[in-house]
Amino acid sequence: MIQEIHDIKNYSFNPVLESNEKLYDTPITLFGKQWRIMDDFWMKHVHIKITDRCNARCPFCIEKESHLKDNPDKLSANLQRLIAELDSQGHLATVSITGGEPSLSPIAAEVVDFLKGNYNVFLNINTNFSKTIDSQLDPDWVNISRHKVGADDYTGIGALDLDMLDQYRADHPKTKIRLQCVLHPHGLQSIDEIKAYIDHYIGHIDDLSFRRLINVTDNAPTDDLYQQLKHFLYDNSTLVEQVLKDYYVYETWNYKGLNITLSHSNMKLLHDLEGTEDDKILREIVVHPDGLIAGSWYRNKKIIAE
Ligand code: SF4
Repeated sequence: MIQEIHDIKNYSFNPVLESNEKLYDTPITLFGKQWRIMDDFWMKHVHIKITDRCNARCPFCIEKESHLKDNPDKLSANLQRLIAELDSQGHLATVSITGGEPSLSPIAAEVVDFLKGNYNVFLNINTNFSKTIDSQLDPDWVNISRHKVGADDYTGIGALDLDMLDQYRADHPKTKIRLQCVLHPHGLQSIDEIKAYIDHYIGHIDDLSFRRLINVTDNAPTDDLYQQLKHFLYDNSTLVEQVLKDYYVYETWNYKGLNITLSHSNMKLLHDLEGTEDDKILREIVVHPDGLIAGSWYRNKKIIAE
């Protein structure tokens, strides 16, 4: 299902997500194997998990059990072939460099320059911004994790260094900065705390995003802070859009001139689908730290390249 809602009258606080296999009807060949993708810019997404290592310790982190050994040579070789094959078939669209903490990888800057220097690709980096990735070229967005104002003892993420951020912006003038905040039981506690968080960062960033904790057994937003935030934005800001795409939904609101995005993935739906559907469907393409490429966050499913 793909649905884009712009009129507030059609906005839903609890949209029902569903996946339609029929939308995955575009054939593609990767590493000599046939696959099917959805021919939609945002659904053709390559995630490069460049390392599993991280210098934070978020208890809710879904990556922290992984501890895969990095293999930068294999990752680079497989990535170059993957990107070239996607591009030659007209399906290179969006790429995220993620982790772990990508700035801990010695090849992160090289990967940015390879992608932005050779291809017309929309590139995001997801980072805790404890260290910068000093590429020559500018990624499109740097998404910075901060779940509180100031130092966060629960996750081990320090206060955002605004001087470092200003310097990064000066060095990368085309890059936009998004702050990403996970609403979790030990983070922001109330709408008043969310308002104070927004006011603290509003002059330093281009965009702000909130999401719920990722949970593979729970499939619907409940009446928690995330839901209260939707009501707050509904009453105090302008809806830009609400987009339902397959197993995830995102909605963007404009509040005090700042775009605020709320996103939620129904990981239970994704998990259940991946257990039963045709193995040839690629909802995403994930390059793992050891260089293996899978059509799933689970590295033993839909293996594209070993
Ligand atoms: S910063 Fe990200 S990768 Fe690191 S522990 Fe937290 S959630 Fe996990």
